[in-house]
Formats: sequence, structure tokens, C-alpha cells
Amino acid sequence: MTDITLLPQVEAFLRRRHTLFIDGGYVQSHSSQTLEVINPATDQVIAHVADADAADVDAAVESARRGFQQWSQVAPAVRGNVLLKLADLLERNREELAQIETCQSGKIIQVSRAFEVDQAAHFLRYYAGWATKISGQTLTPSLPSFAGERYTAFTLREPVGVVVGIVPWNFSTMIAIWKLASALVTGCSIIIKPSEFTPLTILRIAELAVDAGLPAGALNVLTGSGRVGQALVEHPGTDKVSFTGSVPTGIAVGRSAASAGLTRATLELGGKNSAGFLRDVDLDTAVNGIIEAGFLHSGQICAAAERFFAHRSQIEPLMARLSERLGKLHIGSPLDERTEFGPVTNRQHQRKLEGFFAKARAENNTIIHGGKPMDRPGCYVEPTVILANSLNDSLLNEETFGPIATFLPYDTEEELLALMNHTPYGLSASLWTNDLSKALRMVPAIHAGTVWVNMHTLLDPAVPFGGVKSSGIGREFGSAFIDDYTELKSVMIRY
Ligand code: NAP
Repeated sequence: MTDITLLPQVEAFLRRRHTLFIDGGYVQSHSSQTLEVINPATDQVIAHVADADAADVDAAVESARRGFQQWSQVAPAVRGNVLLKLADLLERNREELAQIETCQSGKIIQVSRAFEVDQAAHFLRYYAGWATKISGQTLTPSLPSFAGERYTAFTLREPVGVVVGIVPWNFSTMIAIWKLASALVTGCSIIIKPSEFTPLTILRIAELAVDAGLPAGALNVLTGSGRVGQALVEHPGTDKVSFTGSVPTGIAVGRSAASAGLTRATLELGGKNSAGFLRDVDLDTAVNGIIEAGFLHSGQICAAAERFFAHRSQIEPLMARLSERLGKLHIGSPLDERTEFGPVTNRQHQRKLEGFFAKARAENNTIIHGGKPMDRPGCYVEPTVILANSLNDSLLNEETFGPIATFLPYDTEEELLALMNHTPYGLSASLWTNDLSKALRMVPAIHAGTVWVNMHTLLDPAVPFGGVKSSGIGREFGSAFIDDYTELKSVMIRY
């Protein structure tokens, strides 16, 4: 087991006295409170960040209001170029950013490089392309003229203003990039509130954004607890919140936004996503699919599957083969390039997962594989496979957000659809089959914002993403985000 050596600039960054990023630079917090950032692979405190207070929230909002005045007047092509330059800078600083991310989140280094940095750069470039393509429409008014006068009309797409981007800990870089790219390309300014568990990478990216040419105030970063997020949502100077996180927090944020004078809210929330395997899929394909759907980044992906349905005739051999594969996973330090499965991101989450193992046992579920924390330093839990007894069992209904795949057999395809839809959530789902025509007939019956066929979890900036039912309101990516970050103004003219 060999960890890669941290770059000198990563060591230096971690040693910094971290402050807030307001008005184009680092500023001291008004608060003397700080939060520890803990590496979940080693339990070591690696940095301290400011726990912003109400005066910091006011300062960030004032900065973002000034930033909005300036940035919204910048020509679209120039806005696009700044995002393109930021993408280049992410790539130029790829290893530094990936290492910071792995140290704060325990994400294996290969995933930090490929997703948190490379994919984030792809998303930035995709959004940059929209800068020059956002426009209103020319309309023909419909009512008859009263006395020979004529009418014409058009719409303008105007940026909503100051956006609050609240980010969870699972993909702290990529999700922050989705939010800042959507805001900046439409001419909004943004204040990012990262999770208190993973606040570091975005602080470094804010510095790179200034190098890319972003004017002061267009991007601000406020570190701190959930209280800071709440204060930003409730602040009269903010116009929109783009929240990604859990369902309970999302509902609270939606309520606060509505009470704060109908602040617009996009809510990208959790789920309990299903994967259904039709009988024609061979066992090896199914096992690869389950690993892709349920175990990437230790299952800490909002779109990951947690409910797995296989035909009754296949369920036992499938779980046996899955257990064999999970037993061969290289579990270890996230800074070791051979590691395939690392720790979960924080102690609180590890304890929550232990609670789910206890629930599974209490409800007499069969633990086929794993089901325990690992006896080593850091926040490790075993990759786990569970066979539930009934559709009402907790592990088939509550989001674990961890490496726990829970199975239930089905007999008919009608039953499979009913099982997949039996959840209050609807972020994503996947169907696995060689019969594409059957899959295309089943897709419309699945209640989810994204349905994958023979794949799971891959997000593409050109394809809209968001939840139905309790998994959220609004869509990111594609052209769909434009509706959420702009106001449509109608202009009507009599002549
Ligand atoms: P979380 O506890 O809901 O926190 C999300 C963010 O909200 C964090 O920055 C948190 O700050 C902040 N926050 C907490 N209380 C707040 C309040 N009252 N007002 C405003 N902000 C508040 O979620 P998490 O545990 O970080 O992330 C895991 C969850 O995110 C899972 O449920 C997962 O499914 C979901 N998720 C959804 C998507 C999607 O696109 N749909 C993507 C990724 C993750 P602190 O961390 O400082 O408390």
C-alpha cells in the first residue's frame, strides 16, 4: 500500500489560515469561531475554516449585489470566455485540486481526478457554450385590434440576480461548479455555501476564478454550518437559492425561501433509487451493473441505486456472485491509486450507516455481505448486500446514501414496475435488459426524473437532471437550467 505524495502546494494550502472569499479576495470572518476539517481516511484534522456569522452573510450579499450589477452587464461572449478559462485552470491545477478533495472527503484519488476535476471542466465548457445562445422570443399578440391599431411583443431573458448555491459534501467540487456555471453564464452572481465537511476545494477554485477574469463579487464563498445557508436563504438581498442536499433540509430550505418573499428555489434532493434487472441479463453483466449503480464513491451519490430488484429465479446466484466480487475489491487509503473502495466522508455518516445495519438486523433482513464498520482507523464501512423480507422494510425505503445494496425478488414485469415505483422519491432509476424494445415500453411507466437503460449514475451536461415526487423541484443541465436562472420579461408594443 503506497499513498501518493501530496504536492507541496497542497501541503501549503492545507496549512493556510482559511478565511472567507468575498469581493474577489480572502477576508477575515467577523466571527472568531472555526470549524475543523477532518480527513475521514485518517481521522486527522487537516485544516480549520471560518464559521461565518450574520455580519459575514451581510458582507457576502452586499458583495454579490455589486458583483451582479457589474457581471450582468458583461457581454455574453466574454462571460463564456471566463468560464472556458476557468475550465483550463481546473485542468492545469488538476492534481492539486484532486488531492485537496481526496484529503477532505476521502474520495478515492482516481474519482477526484476523473469526476471532481475533469468532469467539472467538461461541465464548465458545456455551460460556457450557452452564454451566447440564451435569448427571448418574438411573439405575435393574439387578440383582434380595437380600432386598427397593431401590437407586437417579445420576451427578454434576464438574470434572476444574486443566487445562493448550497452544496452537499458528496461531490463538493463538481456540484459547486454546476451551480456557479449556471449562475455566471446567465449573468447572475453567486454565493456558494459548501458543506462544513468539505469546504476546502471551492475556496481554492474561487481564487482560480479571479485568475480566469471573473470580476470581484460575482463569486463569493461563505464557509460555515447549515445556519449560514439558512441565513443566506432568508436574506432579503438574495434572489434565488439552488440547493442540493437531503430531503428534510431541502424541504426546510424551500419553506424558508417561500417565507423570505418567494425567493426562487431549485431543490435537488435525495432519493431511494431503483434498479430493475430483467431475466434476460446474464449474471456478470448484472453484477457489473450493480457495482456501477450502487458502489461507486461508496454509494455516496444522489443518483446511485439502493433498491435492487431481480427475478426470483436469479436472485440467489446474483447475490452470491456480487458478494464474491465485493470480497475482491481493493479497500484502502483513498490516496493509494490502487484503491477501489475508500471511507465514507465523515464520522456522523459512518454512524448513520451503522444504524442502518442495526435496522436490517432488527427487521430480520439477511445480510449477504458486509454489514459492519471496518476495524481500522478512518470512517470505513464494509460494502454491504442485504436481502429484504418485504417492500416495507426500512432498507428498501430510507435513503442510506452509503454502500448498501438491498434486494427483493419479483415474479412478473408488471410487479417489477410496481416495486420500482413504490417510493416517495423519484430522482433516478435504471432498467437492465437486452430487449431494448421492451425497455422503451417500460420507461414511460417509471416515475423518475432520469431513467437509464443498461447504465446507471452517469450524468451528462447536455441531459437535464432533477427529481420528481419528493426528490426535488427544477432541472439542472441541458437548456432546462435557463428557466431556473433567468426571469422571462414580456415587452408589448402598440403601434
Ligand atoms: P444536507 O445535510 O441536506 O446538507 C446539504 C447542504 O445544506 C450543506 O451545505 C449543509 O450545510 C446545508 N444546510 C444544512 N442545514 C441547512 C439549512 N437549514 N438551511 C440551508 N442550508 C442548510 O445534505 P448532505 O448530507 O450534505 O448531502 C447528502 C444528501 O444530498 C443526500 O440526501 C443526497 O441524496 C443529496 N444529494 C442530492 C443530489 C441531487 O442532485 N439531487 C446530489 C448530491 C447529493 P452543513 O453541511 O454545514 O450542515
